[in-house]
Amino acid sequence: MGKVYLTGAGPGDIELLTLKALRVIKEADVIIYDRLANPDILKEAKSGCEFVYVGKEDGRHIMPQDDINEVIYQNALKYDIVVRLKGGDPFVFGRGGEEALYIQERGVRYEVIPGITSSISAPAYAGIPVTHRGVSVSFRVVTGHESPNKKESQIPWETFKTDDTIVFLMGLHNLPKISKKLIEIGKAKDYPCAVISKGTTKDQIVVIGTLENIVEKTKDVPTPALIVVGRVVELREQLQWFEENV
Ligand code: SAH
Repeated sequence: MGKVYLTGAGPGDIELLTLKALRVIKEADVIIYDRLANPDILKEAKSGCEFVYVGKEDGRHIMPQDDINEVIYQNALKYDIVVRLKGGDPFVFGRGGEEALYIQERGVRYEVIPGITSSISAPAYAGIPVTHRGVSVSFRVVTGHESPNKKESQIPWETFKTDDTIVFLMGLHNLPKISKKLIEIGKAKDYPCAVISKGTTKDQIVVIGTLENIVEKTKDVPTPALIVVGRVVELREQLQWFEENV
């Protein structure tokens, strides 16, 4: 039986891959990868390495998670070194925990290789620090996949009244509901927010707006995209660096 490496591929910029991830990618007999993992990374694999695509994006799964778990397990039975390559970090809305539990229950050895998550790196490439002294003392990474109107929402909306930074992943299609909800709980209509699409890549798009106008401004923005809500967004005006360097 082989060993599985639950590996973070980073957010898009291939140079944001960790050295450890690169080492196992080079050694892998099979790489099971997501849509969000930059496909250029696969060029680093040794010749003869098998590639298995189990792509998914924005919660619209091409392959159900149960099937993905089983694919990982079956490959662990077949190969020595199995790399499960996932966009960003495997444990940040990556369902890496579910995959680890599934193979662990079946006696498969595994390691987790954290990746640079889009939730901090896309803002960083947009010139938005997720914390900043005097502006925001914490940041939260929240699923935007769940509708704010859901009756038994697990999201503590009432706690979002402060100026702490909120990063919503998988939230672009729910942005009208999210921005409305944040205004309902008491945030100002002109409260700053940003949408970052294809962050850290040469196709990165950054749209700055307010809770009131962000929906209108991001109608044609492609996925993957995340939403940053917080006063830290205003720092982009001074800290924008990426666009001048690509
Ligand atoms: N494990 C990943 C997140 C998976 S959930 C991570 O740590 O980054 C998928 C969501 O991540 C997308 O819907 C989008 O909100 C966000 N995302 C992933 N890559 C992104 C990128 N390059 N730019 C902007 N958002 C991204």
